[in-house]
Amino acid sequence: MTDSIFTKINKREIPSNIIYEDDLVFAFEDINPVSPIHYLIVPKKQIPTMNDVQEDDKNLLGHILITAGKIAKEKGIAEDGYRLVINCNKGAGQTVFHIHCHLLGGRLFNWPPG
Ligand code: 5GP
Repeated sequence: MTDSIFTKINKREIPSNIIYEDDLVFAFEDINPVSPIHYLIVPKKQIPTMNDVQEDDKNLLGHILITAGKIAKEKGIAEDGYRLVINCNKGAGQTVFHIHCHLLGGRLFNWPPG
């Protein structure tokens, strides 16, 4: 598998503003934010889409969500509220085929999403 854009960011081959990193995941500012706060939480393991996750990835997926919640608290958006989004495949708007969780905050969000 060739390196995704996000793996290249993790390897510091592509510059980005990384705000969090541990053994399993890293998080950075989205280059094209759709809200005042827009981070991407990405597993270091390169999994193309949510269709490709396995039972073995349970801990990793839980860790992504827990990390997103911690970052939301740190950034002061937890009380007002925030949205977590994982797009799966082109029909949902996925453009980078390395799973990632969008953490969106700092404004009101409509429901249903567009
Ligand atoms: P998707 O559409 O796949 O759910 O989300 C991909 C996200 O990655 C988009 O919001 C896009 O702006 C962001 N993105 C794509 N390339 C880069 C990049 O090189 N650097 C950063 N920081 N974000 C990127």
